[in-house]
Amino acid sequence: MVQVNGNYLKLKAGYLFPEIGRRVKAFSEANPTAQIIRLGIGDVTEPLPEACRQAMQAAIDELGTREGFHGYGPEQGYLWLRQAIAQNDFQARGAQVSAEEIFVSDGSKCDSANILDILGEGNRIAVTDPVYPVYVDSNVMAGRTGNADELGRYAGLTYLPISAENGFCAQIPSEKVDLIYLCFPNNPTGAVASKAQLQQWVDYALANEALILFDAAYEAFIQDPELPHSIYEIEGARQCAIEFRSFSKNAGFTGTRCALTVVPRGLMGKAANGEAVELWALWNRRQCTKFNGVSYLVQRGAEAVYSAAGKAQVQALVHFYMENAAIIRRELIAAGLEVYGGEQAPYVWVKTPAGLDSWGFFDRLLQQAHVVGTPGSGFGAAGEGYFRLSAFNSRANVEEAMARLRASLTN
Ligand SMILES: *Cc1c(COP(=O)(O)O)cnc(C)c1O
Repeated sequence: MVQVNGNYLKLKAGYLFPEIGRRVKAFSEANPTAQIIRLGIGDVTEPLPEACRQAMQAAIDELGTREGFHGYGPEQGYLWLRQAIAQNDFQARGAQVSAEEIFVSDGSKCDSANILDILGEGNRIAVTDPVYPVYVDSNVMAGRTGNADELGRYAGLTYLPISAENGFCAQIPSEKVDLIYLCFPNNPTGAVASKAQLQQWVDYALANEALILFDAAYEAFIQDPELPHSIYEIEGARQCAIEFRSFSKNAGFTGTRCALTVVPRGLMGKAANGEAVELWALWNRRQCTKFNGVSYLVQRGAEAVYSAAGKAQVQALVHFYMENAAIIRRELIAAGLEVYGGEQAPYVWVKTPAGLDSWGFFDRLLQQAHVVGTPGSGFGAAGEGYFRLSAFNSRANVEEAMARLRASLTN
C-alpha cells in the first residue's frame, strides 16, 4: 500500500465545527420546531456588491468573444488588479508596497498555509492561543511540529496566550522565535493592535531576524482612524513581514474567491549555508509552479471593489455588519456579560458566565435560546472560558438571537 503523510495523523482539529454540527443536529432532532439561529461560522451572508457583479457580468461577455477571450492569466494576477490594490490598499495609507510585490490568489486561507512551502524545517514558530486554526494545522501537516498533548498543544510550537489580562495582544516572547503569526483585527477575539504594539513586534522581528506573517483579512472592519490597516504602515516592516489580505470578508467573496499576499522585494531569508535569499523570488517560483492564477472574471470583480461605486458598496456592507456587532455587544452587556471585540472587527468575544466553560455555555445557549455560537476552547486551550459570536448574519436574525439570548440569561 502507498504510504500516507503521517503528519496528518497528528492532527487534533477538524474537531470544533464537526462537534458543533453534531450537537446542533442532536438538538434539532429532539426539538424539530426550534428555529435555530447560527452566529457561529465566520461566513458572510449579504449579497455580492452590485459593482462587482456588473464587472463580472461584463467580463463573462468579454470572454464570449474571440477578441475578449482570456486563457491562462499571469500566475501573479493581472497587473491592473495588482496596481489598483497597491494604490488603494497600501500607497493611499502611506505604506510603500508596489504592484510587483502583490500576488493575487484564490484565498488567504490557502496562502497562509502555502507560505510554508518556501520556509525551512528548522524554524521556531510562534502562534497566539487562541488562534485561527489554519496556522497551526498547516504547520502540523508540513511536519513542523511534534505530537499534540492532552490540551491540543503541539510540541515544537511556541504558544503566546492572549486573554483579557493582556488585552488580547500577546506578550513579546522572551525566547527567540523565527516565524510569528499575527492576525489583526483578530479572529477569534475581535482585538486590534495599535501602531505602537505592531512596532514592538516589528522591532522584535528585526532584532531576532524573524519573519512576521501578518493576516489582515479583517482590516476593512477597523473603525478607529488611528489604527493601522497594514503592517507596512509600521517602520521596518518591509524587512521582516509578509501580509495576507482577502476580498472574502469586506466584499463578500467567500464563495467567489479572491485574495492577495504581499511579499516585499528585498525581504530576505537564509539558506542552510547562511547565504541570504530573497523570499519574493521563492514565492514567485512557488506560485508559477503550483498555481495558475485566479479566474479573469473574478479578478475583474475584485478590481471593481476599488471603483467609486464599489468602495461605497463595500463600505455599506462593512457598516451593516458592524451595526450587527454593536447590537450583539449592547445586548450581551445588558445581559451582564463581560464582552470584548466587536468594535473594530465582526467578532464579539465574550467571557462565559460563572460556572460554565465554553462548551457549557454553548449547550445552554443552544438549549435555551436556540442560538449557535463558537466555543472559545475550539481555538486553543487559552480560549477556554470564552465564546465567539459572529456579526455575519441578517439584521432580523441578529435581533431575534439577541432577544432570546437576553431573555435566557436574565431569567
Ligand atoms: C476568513 C479569514 C481569512 C480569509 O480566508 P479566504 O481564504 O481568503 O476566504 C483569512 N484569515 C482569517 C483569520 C480569516 O478568518
